[in-house]
Amino acid sequence: MKTVKAKKKLGQHFLNDLNIAKKIANTLQYDTYSKVLEIGPGMGVLTQYLPHSTGKIHLIEIDSESIVYLKNKYPLLEQNIIEGDFLKYDLNSIFGDSPFAIIGNFPYNISTQIVFKTIEHRDQIPFFSGMFQKEVAERICETPGTKKYGILSVLAQLFYTATYEFTVPPEVFSPPPKVDSGVLTLRRKENYNLACNEKILFKIVKMSFQQRRKTLRNSLKTLQLPVNLTEDSIFDKRPEKLSGNDFIGLTQKIEDGKISS
Ligand code: SAH
Repeated sequence: MKTVKAKKKLGQHFLNDLNIAKKIANTLQYDTYSKVLEIGPGMGVLTQYLPHSTGKIHLIEIDSESIVYLKNKYPLLEQNIIEGDFLKYDLNSIFGDSPFAIIGNFPYNISTQIVFKTIEHRDQIPFFSGMFQKEVAERICETPGTKKYGILSVLAQLFYTATYEFTVPPEVFSPPPKVDSGVLTLRRKENYNLACNEKILFKIVKMSFQQRRKTLRNSLKTLQLPVNLTEDSIFDKRPEKLSGNDFIGLTQKIEDGKISS
């Protein structure tokens, strides 16, 4: 009983449709990296379609029973099968400074945190492909002016081109999740360096969307920005109207006004 509960917490929904597993694996494109990290391989359904021949696949899985199973199923990968929590794991200890791609049918309860960690390590992660709860995958790909556009869409798209690939129905998992799933790819942009202070930018984006119905002037009040700055018409807007570049422009203005991060 105890283990059943614990497993539920791990977001385990195993894929049982091999065509879909293959289709997800095929979203990986090997141009600027050769190493791949699969997050949450479970019983290895997706793993079998990853390019084993390169010997560059690494698996990270939190569930010790799955780890035993995977080591049996893929003895040649034994050295690369890591038992651990992706969110806490030191990725440099696996890859050093080398680039690597991420792939996975993710545990949905931590999927947004997986994206945040990817953004944090973007210098090493040129490509990312994953299955999310459909609504989350859509949200990440949204453009300004839409209802679902939010923090995750802005931050991910500052550095990556986000593409919604395809929808996956609940019946192809066991146990089936309550919602549809969606596969998403992120391809890092050619020039993904920010032309502004990252800490301030992230803070502005997060603060703005915390009250998405309000204008920026209202949401950013506690920053006590100089009045001559907040007179700018950009402060009349709601955050959902601003693109990543608009947020960068806003951050540059705030930096010029010497606001501390
Ligand atoms: N990829 C498999 C399993 C998907 S279910 C398939 O498609 O069938 C999600 C998997 O992520 C489970 O195996 C679960 O144990 C694992 N998981 C949950 N939290 C994790 C974490 N923090 N780090 C690594 N793996 C995790």
